[in-house]
Amino acid sequence: MSEISFAGRVAIVTGAGGGLGKAHALEIARRGAKVVINDLGGDISGANGGTAMADDVVAEIQAAGGDAVANYDSVATPEGGRGIVETALDAFGRVDILVNNAGNIRNAPFTDLSPESVESLLAVHVKGAFHVTQPAFEVMRDNGYGRIVFTSSAAGLFGSIQQANYAAAKGAVFGLANVVALEGKPHGILVNTILPAANSRMQADMNAEQFVGMPTTPAHGEPEMITAMVAYLASEQNTATRELYSIARGRYARVFMGVAPGWHVAHDEPVATADDVAAHIDRIRDLEGYAVPESMVAEFALVP
Ligand code: NAD
Repeated sequence: MSEISFAGRVAIVTGAGGGLGKAHALEIARRGAKVVINDLGGDISGANGGTAMADDVVAEIQAAGGDAVANYDSVATPEGGRGIVETALDAFGRVDILVNNAGNIRNAPFTDLSPESVESLLAVHVKGAFHVTQPAFEVMRDNGYGRIVFTSSAAGLFGSIQQANYAAAKGAVFGLANVVALEGKPHGILVNTILPAANSRMQADMNAEQFVGMPTTPAHGEPEMITAMVAYLASEQNTATRELYSIARGRYARVFMGVAPGWHVAHDEPVATADDVAAHIDRIRDLEGYAVPESMVAEFALVP
């Protein structure tokens, strides 16, 4: 198989001023893409922005002989999302790859989370991914080609204490990605989602209580470990769509949403009561023989 190349491709990486996004941008640029480095340059909560983070990554790409341009818009507004895509079109004339990576964090026990912290995380992770993806999707659809990577989190899909706001936002990203994937497929736009775990300022913000039970054996935690999967998913070599991948502690693995065979009440039988559910609960909970439906309709079609 030939090496992955992004020659002739234009990529947008949001939140590319540091952490995972910076690693993704450097590697995608190193493999030949022209890259928009979006970052509002703030602290871990998303506040106190500036231009230096994005500028530094652009300078690093250019120093290595690559092509990149900075954008400082917040992903969290429709204008910001459009501004990011317009930066790509103005500078490079197209958009082939979008990595939705920008994110912020405000951890606290569930009952201590302020309404503002919920709003802020939903704004950056969910609305942000929506606002950037919508205009990028339009360009990709018109070109008949696109690769989009969404960044969700194991916290969102499996749960993680003191992260209710973050998990709500990351779970919603998964829902968004599923639909963009279904609508993108006929246009050659393939959409996948990652659940990364790697060293960054965001991970450093977690406290010991949140990691109780974590294995202590040595394992990879470099952002580049995540980037390898992102670059693959952003490439022509990738033919999968609407899939989820966990990249953690050096392991790359597909994650999926399945449905058990369950207990079925036929249309000509009486509607179930709570007591009927209690009587069949073991069968309802039994995962043996589960299926992995490819859409809502495919899930309903499993029922005889
Ligand atoms: P990070 O804080 O280093 O990177 C996030 C970047 O997003 C920052 O550079 C920040 O300035 C930028 N950003 C924040 N709000 C923005 C906005 N409104 N508009 C544009 N840019 C904005 O953290 P990271 O660990 O590199 O996180 C990258 C992504 O990976 C995030 O979506 C995060 O939720 C996700 N993630 C990370 C881990 C991990 O283990 N590091 C685990 C699960 C998910």
